[in-house]
Amino acid sequence: MRAATLHGQTARHLSFAFWLCALFVCPVALADQNAVISVYHHVSASTPPSTSLSPEAFRAHLSFLAENNFTVLPLTQILTTLNDGDDLPDRTVAITFDDGYESIYSTAFPLLREFGFPFTVFVSTGPIDRQQTGYMTWEQLSTLHRAAVVIGNHGTEHRSLLELSDSEARVDILAAQARITEELGPQPRLFAYPYGEFNDASKRLLADLGYAGFAQNSGAVGPTTEQTALPRFPLAGLYSGLEGATLKYSTLAFDVQTLEPLSPQTQLTAPSARVRFEEGDYSQARVACFDDGDPMAIAWEVDLSEDNVATLSTNAKQRGRRWNYVCTAPHTGSGRYFWFSQPWFDESKPQ
Ligand SMILES: [Zn+2]
Repeated sequence: MRAATLHGQTARHLSFAFWLCALFVCPVALADQNAVISVYHHVSASTPPSTSLSPEAFRAHLSFLAENNFTVLPLTQILTTLNDGDDLPDRTVAITFDDGYESIYSTAFPLLREFGFPFTVFVSTGPIDRQQTGYMTWEQLSTLHRAAVVIGNHGTEHRSLLELSDSEARVDILAAQARITEELGPQPRLFAYPYGEFNDASKRLLADLGYAGFAQNSGAVGPTTEQTALPRFPLAGLYSGLEGATLKYSTLAFDVQTLEPLSPQTQLTAPSARVRFEEGDYSQARVACFDDGDPMAIAWEVDLSEDNVATLSTNAKQRGRRWNYVCTAPHTGSGRYFWFSQPWFDESKPQ
């Protein structure tokens, strides 16, 4: 009954907004507080295919963004805008790179400059300090920095936070940031989890240190997205094709909260998740979730005060170290999709 009343109020509010829109100025649409963050690694045809895309494929992604009214903004500007509750241009995107590979400097940077797109590079400082083959040098990173590229933190030695104690993780993050600051001056506090892996303790640590945390599971970002588990779409390997990139760069953020479990770290082969999907420009009946491509069972709770909470369940199957449940729903009135994923990490499995 309570939910029905709330729905009634929302309907009256929308109707009022409609007439206000017809008479004066249109109210803000949900898509104005939405962004998509992509993550790339190598832009090269001669590096490991699973983390690479060719220069031609990368150019195709950038051309798509340029030709379809996307606005590519610095990551920090997107986070600040969303946190302030302000609007972003429709189809806002941020481009990021992890690890600090040489092809970012030699191949991706000239292309991004040609298109005038800002970007962020998350570096692991150890390989750069050792001048390890295949990585950028500090001089190259300094050139990027002078071109307004933000250099974020990806740990010193790319160790998963699931394998470090709280104090080890804290020391590692601060040591990497100190090296970045020594070489380039102060940078915004942005941390990309190595391998995209995190748990509840990692999120609390980043919040305590004042960092935004970036994962590698798919999904769009909105004002209610957890700041220490921001999803990014990986667009390499199998996902480097233009069709997939087009779909993902166009996605919208569900206003969603995973109620259970709190941590994505698990050794279960079929963990269930309890997720609250707030109302949006989509039909609850069209929310669909997938476990590695297989449709999942979605049980919506019948208690009217919680009728937007769903339990997602699946069947046990062979799991690697990382996998995701993906939920989508078509946006009412456009070909775009709301997109959310729940990542899972089993640290007992090999990297
Ligand atoms: Zn990495």
